[in-house]
Amino acid sequence: MGRVRTIGRIALGLVSLTVLLVLILDFAFGLLPDEVQNARKVRERIAAGLAVQLTALVEAEDQRTIQRTVDTAVTKGGEILSVGVRRQNGELVVKSGYHDKDWVPTAEGKSTLTHVVVPVYSGKERWGQVEMSFKPVGPQSWIEWLHHPTVLLIVALTVGGFIFYYFYLRKVLQHLDPTAVIPDRVRMAFDTLAEGVLVIDTKGRINMANSAFRRLHPQASSGLLGQNVASLDWLKTSLPQDPAAQPWNQAMASREPVIGTVIDIPQGGGRARKAVLNCSPIVDNVGRARGCLATFDDVTDLEEKNAELQRALDELESSRAKIEEQNKELAVMAARDSLTGMLNRRAFFAEMEKIYMSAITEDLELCMIMADIDHFKSINDRFGHAVGDEAIKQMARIISSSVRGHDLVCRYGGEEFVIALPNTTVEKATEIAKRMRRRIEAEGGPGIRNVEGLQMTSSFGVSTIRFGGTSVAELVDQADQALYAAKKSGRNRALRWDELEPGHRHAAAAG
Ligand code: GH3
Ligand code: MG
Ligand code: MG
Repeated sequence: MGRVRTIGRIALGLVSLTVLLVLILDFAFGLLPDEVQNARKVRERIAAGLAVQLTALVEAEDQRTIQRTVDTAVTKGGEILSVGVRRQNGELVVKSGYHDKDWVPTAEGKSTLTHVVVPVYSGKERWGQVEMSFKPVGPQSWIEWLHHPTVLLIVALTVGGFIFYYFYLRKVLQHLDPTAVIPDRVRMAFDTLAEGVLVIDTKGRINMANSAFRRLHPQASSGLLGQNVASLDWLKTSLPQDPAAQPWNQAMASREPVIGTVIDIPQGGGRARKAVLNCSPIVDNVGRARGCLATFDDVTDLEEKNAELQRALDELESSRAKIEEQNKELAVMAARDSLTGMLNRRAFFAEMEKIYMSAITEDLELCMIMADIDHFKSINDRFGHAVGDEAIKQMARIISSSVRGHDLVCRYGGEEFVIALPNTTVEKATEIAKRMRRRIEAEGGPGIRNVEGLQMTSSFGVSTIRFGGTSVAELVDQADQALYAAKKSGRNRALRWDELEPGHRHAAAAG
């Protein structure tokens, strides 16, 4: 709309200049015929001609012919309104038309444009004069004005010129490089930007494209200006088909920036480039959208770097998970005995610290059982080391299945085991120890496959925190003392530390 009005204004200006030029040329060089001058000449000639005719008739005193001649001069609707022939003494001899009304005596007998006087001589003497009144020169009514050639010329020039200039300008402006209208320094500023920049008008036509935009796509390098941005095939592939949904139209309609539209720009043959399109409306001072500034940020490299980074992160994450898994396995391996799956000595003591502390703070009883296979050396000797290992596993199985989930079982040494029983009375712990002893005696040997005649027994020592031990080590030591006593007193039995004769009890520190 604005463009049409602008072209109209320029065309009107050009028409005014043209008309003015014609008028100036006319003034300077008399381009248009001078009507008044022409009329004066013609009228004077007519009057002179008439006077010559009348001079002859006056001398012949031919009144009738004079009248006829005068009458022929005055024709209806012609230039000559009236003719009169007057004697020198002022007597009007002959008249035609409304001479009394139309004739106005001229000053000093001089002719004017509308009233012409020509003297008539009889011999050498002045006889009188011929008076002729003419129509006024030039248009007298507005209809005549309309038909006046000068007016017609100006009107034709104005209308024709306007139409001609308007269409000519429209055509020219469409093909004219609009960047030429944008000052060089502004264009240079846009060209220094790394982002592609487009200035789009309200119809979606490209008014300006900077050099970074032209580099985005081979087809973007030429013939962009004046084109509709939606007609760029390579651009619209990743944009909505509906014009209202296209980001620049959205921005102009809402007069709010539309940012972050991701578009893929295919590159003849090569991999498509990725760009982020931001559209900001250009709004005039009354809030109307006059166009849109669209910027294209090529994020291909950034995206590639991001993808690379993401891949590295994923790899790192998976190797971290792997390491965690391995660490868990390592922790299990480090904490467990490989033959029996029970806690090893180091892990047992680490766990026991927590259990011991909570027993002290919560004032709960904590018992400790120590177990050892009787005459194990002879099992090894008689059946071989492999069967010895099986016997150890069998003993571990029976121990593990005789305790509760929160009890701690540990392979303490070769065929020596420690069992911790939190929140358990020493009576209960002794009962458990005795049950284990019975089960080993009954199931231990027969449970070992492919071995005949293996009889297995074991001895147990039981202690409790109530017996005054002040550390895990002391508790274990008391159980060990009880075990030692059980071995001493014949094996295949379970003894409590407090059942030992006082002489056999000794502090852990004493060994
Ligand atoms: P006691 O009734 O007094 O306990 O007699 P014992 O023969 O069991 O004596 P001791 O407890 O001192 O014997 C330990 C033996 O256990 C010594 C070693 O040869 C054997 N041993 C230790 N660790 C293993 C093992 O992992 N596998 C096998 N097969 N034998 C082991
Ligand atoms: Mg033993
Ligand atoms: Mg032993």
